[in-house]
Amino acid sequence: MLEVTGLGAGYGRVQVLWEADLSVGDNEIVALVGPNGAGKTTMLRAVSGIVPVRSGAVTFDGAALAGKSIEQIVALGIAHVPEGRRLFSGLTVRDNLRLGGWVGDNRDSNRDIDRVVELFPALGERIKQVTGNMSGGEQQMCAIARGLMSQPKLIMIDELSLGLAPVIVDEILDRLPGIAESGTAVLLVEQDVDAALTIASRAYVLETGRVVLSGESEALLNDERVQQSYLGVG
Ligand code: ATP
Repeated sequence: MLEVTGLGAGYGRVQVLWEADLSVGDNEIVALVGPNGAGKTTMLRAVSGIVPVRSGAVTFDGAALAGKSIEQIVALGIAHVPEGRRLFSGLTVRDNLRLGGWVGDNRDSNRDIDRVVELFPALGERIKQVTGNMSGGEQQMCAIARGLMSQPKLIMIDELSLGLAPVIVDEILDRLPGIAESGTAVLLVEQDVDAALTIASRAYVLETGRVVLSGESEALLNDERVQQSYLGVG
């Protein structure tokens, strides 16, 4: 579904990604891990059209994404949950969700809200609350739910666990397999490599802008380099 081949991207004179390859198939959960500054966020931004593709190709269901606007890419079925959630903190949960569902057509947003609240029941209890007053975990749930409002084929989640207690992270990660099975594949950028590899079927390790390792999560969990660099083993 998503195919990234030989991607080069960056900011101004700074090249961040070099010849990066990555793919996500239907109903898959794929993790993208690596140290701070490796270029994980830049990869998600290049897919969602925030950062231009300088070289290589990004295709989604066979359509080239380079040169398309962010709105066009959203309409093709890609949702991006940015690092730090970026909710409208003065708006209620319901209004944040409604904004996520706005893709220019006449969707029944109430039905979409019911669907995402079923996934994250805590949001149902907070539906009229402004998101700025909610806990970090509830805000992350709201950000993911907002991304799911348009029923995307792919949701990309940047740093899901950032600043959250492990028990909340587990609660949110537990929702991902259901999301993937119901038709929204997941590309997960995550600092907690152990958690990411446990939930994803495949993963990519990005270091200084290059994919240095990739494969089935189980194999990566047993890889000596991954264990030493990311899992504190040995
Ligand atoms: P982190 O976990 O710290 O967010 P990351 O792997 O997601 O790391 P990126 O955020 O993609 O990495 O950053 C990769 C490099 O690009 C870093 O050196 C960063 O300083 C640089 N960078 C990121 N955003 C910009 C920007 N808007 N302008 C210039 N350079 C940027």
